[in-house]
Amino acid sequence: MSKLDAGNIHKRIAQGDPEALAIYCRFQDNIIGSTPMGEGAHAWPAWNDLPSTLSPVRPLRGWRMWAVFDTTAGPRLCAPFLTAVLHATPDIPGVTWAPGINRNSTYTCKVRHGRHPQVGCRCGIRACQSLTVLRAFATNQAPRIGPLVAYAEVDVWGRVAPFAPEAADWKFTLRAEFAEIAGPLHLAPTHAIHGEALAEHYDIEVQK
Ligand SMILES: [Zn+2]
Repeated sequence: MSKLDAGNIHKRIAQGDPEALAIYCRFQDNIIGSTPMGEGAHAWPAWNDLPSTLSPVRPLRGWRMWAVFDTTAGPRLCAPFLTAVLHATPDIPGVTWAPGINRNSTYTCKVRHGRHPQVGCRCGIRACQSLTVLRAFATNQAPRIGPLVAYAEVDVWGRVAPFAPEAADWKFTLRAEFAEIAGPLHLAPTHAIHGEALAEHYDIEVQK
């Protein structure tokens, strides 16, 4: 898709055009490839079988990526799209990952009622069902957000909602109310210098 086409597609998806959604899904399928669950796959129930609220004792596991920001307080994991595309700074709610449990921010959500995320809204902490999908998504988005530098498995619970195509989410992605890092943080060699500080701040294992 060219830039112009992509803009048109997203506008049409937001207007509920099923043909546009099908085109966008095929575009994603081509990039993800024939084995979306090839690496690091987690079993997720079909959305029909999934309660909209998950207990913290039975979370789902997925993969998430971050940007790394070197702040005055030390290096921090930050939401890659909010910082790179919307130019949000690490102090804005929902931008910087906190140690332990993180809660979805409704800071940018247009829906002003109820618990979030909702099927009809666009907020939520994103997680991908497999590492294959996360890598494909990250590679495709690299021109906007830069290369994949930090990723880890996360447990998600609370309110959950399927991916929001009108927010340009990809398939095999969910949006959650709560999330916590549940595996080692994989850090690119370019950011290895921040490994120890990130491990200490977040109390997690870091693999460089
Ligand atoms: Zn929302």
